[in-house]
Amino acid sequence: MFQRVLIANRGEIACRIARTCRRMGIEYVAVYADVDAGAPHLEGAVARVRIGAGPAAQSYLLGERIIAASLETGCDAVHPGYGFLSENSGFAAAVTAAGLMFVGPTPQTIATLGDKARAKALMEAARVPVVPGGGDASDDPEIVASMVRKVGLPVLLKPSAGGGGKGMRVITQLAEVGDAVDSAIRIARSSFGDGRLIVERYIDKPRHIEVQVFGDTHGNVVHLFERECSLQRRHQKVVEEAPAPNLPQEVRQRLVEAAVRGASSVGYLNAGTFEFIVGPDFQFYFLEVNTRLQVEHPVTECVTGRDLVEWQLRVAAGEPLPLSQEQIRCTGHAMEARIYAEDPANDFRPSPGDVGTVRWPRDGRVESGIASGGVVPSFYDPMVAKLVTHADTRAGALTRLHAALGDTVLVGLTTNIGYLRRVLADASVQAGQVHTRYLDEHGARFTANEASALAAACASVIGLAGCNAANPWVADGLRGAGDRADLDAEAPLGRVELWEGELGFSCALQTRTPEGIRVAINGAIWNVCPLGDADGVHHGRVGSRYWFAQWHQGRWEMQVDGDRVVLQPARTRSFNTAATAGLAVAPMSGTIAALPVRVGDRVSQGATLAIVEAMKMEHGVASARDGTVRAIAFSVGDTVKAGELIVDIE
Ligand code: ADP
Repeated sequence: MFQRVLIANRGEIACRIARTCRRMGIEYVAVYADVDAGAPHLEGAVARVRIGAGPAAQSYLLGERIIAASLETGCDAVHPGYGFLSENSGFAAAVTAAGLMFVGPTPQTIATLGDKARAKALMEAARVPVVPGGGDASDDPEIVASMVRKVGLPVLLKPSAGGGGKGMRVITQLAEVGDAVDSAIRIARSSFGDGRLIVERYIDKPRHIEVQVFGDTHGNVVHLFERECSLQRRHQKVVEEAPAPNLPQEVRQRLVEAAVRGASSVGYLNAGTFEFIVGPDFQFYFLEVNTRLQVEHPVTECVTGRDLVEWQLRVAAGEPLPLSQEQIRCTGHAMEARIYAEDPANDFRPSPGDVGTVRWPRDGRVESGIASGGVVPSFYDPMVAKLVTHADTRAGALTRLHAALGDTVLVGLTTNIGYLRRVLADASVQAGQVHTRYLDEHGARFTANEASALAAACASVIGLAGCNAANPWVADGLRGAGDRADLDAEAPLGRVELWEGELGFSCALQTRTPEGIRVAINGAIWNVCPLGDADGVHHGRVGSRYWFAQWHQGRWEMQVDGDRVVLQPARTRSFNTAATAGLAVAPMSGTIAALPVRVGDRVSQGATLAIVEAMKMEHGVASARDGTVRAIAFSVGDTVKAGELIVDIE
């Protein structure tokens, strides 16, 4: 077995790999970019090597530097995690050429399967059903258009070198073929440096089901059952589970057999995932192979009771697979939710920034890459943690996941926790009756929240009680409020004003009831039950909803059933109002990717003034009015904070 492994990654997956290394008595070396200097993934490493500046292209994607670091620190293997260099065959080959073991498939397998068209052809030859399509990939608009006509509408155009659901385009009308093909080739070229497209029949309302496979150097290939990943937002997985619900046993059997057949046909080594889409008629079609550990691997670990990172390391070290197919069992049901630093109420805008206080749930498995007082940098993927639960039944796993999300404290960071709670409370989700477009089609139902007034009600109660006393309500009743009794008939306990930017809440604290403090805001009534405070975080309940509150830099950082609300004791001009007042401010913290205007330019309303890049996404800053550019406060490549003025228009 290896003595020392370099983990070529960051965040939760680097922490996850480190954990298995520690358990197996393997030393590990961590690498980091400047912005990750104090990050949790460095803990416990025998050596920590700085590899460059924040942007991934200047750090985590620098294969040569990572290999040099491995050699300098005396490692004998490199684990790439997922993302970054994990599916880069050139990197895998360079690692091997440097005399190190690459924890993953062979460079040849990564290269062949990384090309969707070649992968499909290989799988078809191995009798794995593939989505009907147009054959070889091409970047000639004429050829692609003729493939579209041959396959028949509706079709899906996919970049052959693509990933992460990017650049895919559905065509439903013959009239749009020409334009759609041209633009899809252009996008593929700019996103992946390769304009070739494949053409597939578009399957309506499919499920996404994938099979975990594993191969060793002794010729064994096994599967570890399937995972259902149909809960996606814009082709990005949000909640995953194992096994797939409502899947006939006979279909499951054919699915896992097809994956093993496909993997065997290419002599697959190490961990891999065969992705399929499954139609409402249970016909399944191969999509692609992910030649690495998946984000959602923990659900498979829960139901099989195995450590897949350990398997990866053993297989890479030349050991045979720990179990035969017959010995691998699936027990109970597991579910995972991905926690992203993003704002569901604002079109899921990435929301990097300072992490206030983090407290993980008392139940469930947590995979995280952040800690209290840390930072979520704007350069990388916005996923900050995963919660995983396991139970005898699907309903049990789902209930535990819903509860664990409610018990997660992430004060000060905007996340999708509230969104995830609403998704898990949905009847179709609970029934396991969803397809890959379900969350997009029902988006508003899960993004809308009424957290603001509720948060104000909760915060007003703490203000009355005194911020620091431990549970004063239980200790001595309504201390500190009695002398205000006759000032306000509607609010005998007191009245508290709180502002969310320009939105004001006048909270009338009325009376103490068995359920807590009765608070009225504009006629709506809440019974807020404060439960105490610990380490500066107050917490309590309103009905079945939990809230957390922390006083931070002159404002209340509230988390109400997973949704973040920031309240101030005085009215302030919020970032949103600054934007609507015509100021071209950064919509989020990030890097200036482009500045298409110059000082003195005349611009009209709606013109793009700047592009801010954060977490692999670009966001345009549009001019709110006609005018002249008076000043530009930044240059391309600069980092900006949310709300900072970028371009001044007069
Ligand atoms: P990527 O490599 O970009 O992730 P995939 O081929 O894995 O692309 O597809 C991503 C998602 O797109 C799938 O999970 C599914 O939701 C959807 N999808 C892919 N191919 C089809 C298809 N032919 N018909 C309908 N949906 C599809």
